[in-house]
Amino acid sequence: MGFILDKISADKFLSGLKDEYYIFAPKRFELGGIYSDTDAIRYSEINSFDEIVFDEKSQYSFKETILQISQTIFYFTEDQIKEPNFTCRQKKALIFLRNCDLHGLKRLDDMYLNNGPEDYYYKKLRDAAEFVVMGCENSFENCFCVSMGTNQSDAYDLSIDKQEDKYLITCKNSKLNNILLKAGASSSDVVPKFVTSNNIQVNIPDNLSNDVATSKIWDEYDVRCIACGRCNFVCPTCTCFTMQDIFYTENGKVGERRRVWASCMIDGFTDMAGGHSYRVKKGQRMRYKVLHKVLNHKKRHGEQMCVGCGRCDDICPEYISFSNSINKLENAMKEVTSNE
Ligand code: SF4
Ligand code: SF4
Repeated sequence: MGFILDKISADKFLSGLKDEYYIFAPKRFELGGIYSDTDAIRYSEINSFDEIVFDEKSQYSFKETILQISQTIFYFTEDQIKEPNFTCRQKKALIFLRNCDLHGLKRLDDMYLNNGPEDYYYKKLRDAAEFVVMGCENSFENCFCVSMGTNQSDAYDLSIDKQEDKYLITCKNSKLNNILLKAGASSSDVVPKFVTSNNIQVNIPDNLSNDVATSKIWDEYDVRCIACGRCNFVCPTCTCFTMQDIFYTENGKVGERRRVWASCMIDGFTDMAGGHSYRVKKGQRMRYKVLHKVLNHKKRHGEQMCVGCGRCDDICPEYISFSNSINKLENAMKEVTSNE
């Protein structure tokens, strides 16, 4: 069902939503960017539609709204453990995100819900979330969603497009539909926007296999990559975390266990007992990341992990392009097959 919201009905809609949901959307943080005098656009709770940034890509993805950067798993004393009181929000979360990110949500579900036992903490926040897809009028810099087939998704509760001072909405969720009607939204035929082309295209060769691990293409990243891990933290589909025990007392018997986002690109990620580690070279880490994103996840879950949002390219301080890395795979496969 389609609706148009003007300024007055949009304000009423938002106030109706706030009774039922915490609302998370990309918002501008002035001078919070990674370079001096730049803003950050990242997820936060919003109190007005005016706060939502529609015309720029968020540097960080929606991921942090359901997969917290640092999350206490339990508290412990000498003989007890206790789950935190706050593992689930008191109201549902309504999360505004792009089409590619909605595909990214499916990848998070693959990893946390369909990859062995369900992850208890992820599931609690995931089950209490509904999703609003924000249409893209034009492709943003570095996006390659069309090549990855993630430029459109129907798996939303509500779609929203901003057109001057109006909002064009489609709705598939009866609760949100009632809130829209109460807010005085006018019915209309609406087709959600999505992009059909990007400036960047990628080609994943049909014959891609793990044999490409022996190609020389990975060597350049030994020098270029500085192992900062930014590419993992902005990625809507990176899911690794590490565990940290925080002790409150000097005897080390009272404290909390947290899980904290981790990065396969940084030093220490592969450290093991006895002081061993593997993938010491940065090119090896890049190889691992690229092949997980465009080969090995698909083998298990049927879809490429990368959704082509381009955020890793946007954020890399060394201008390493993930889409270029993908496009080098065809020649890399020729190189390794000619060596056979
Ligand atoms: S690998 Fe890069 S382009 Fe692909 S989903 Fe992650 S951040 Fe987006
Ligand atoms: S953001 Fe760039 S430099 Fe940093 S770890 Fe990723 S590829 Fe390497």
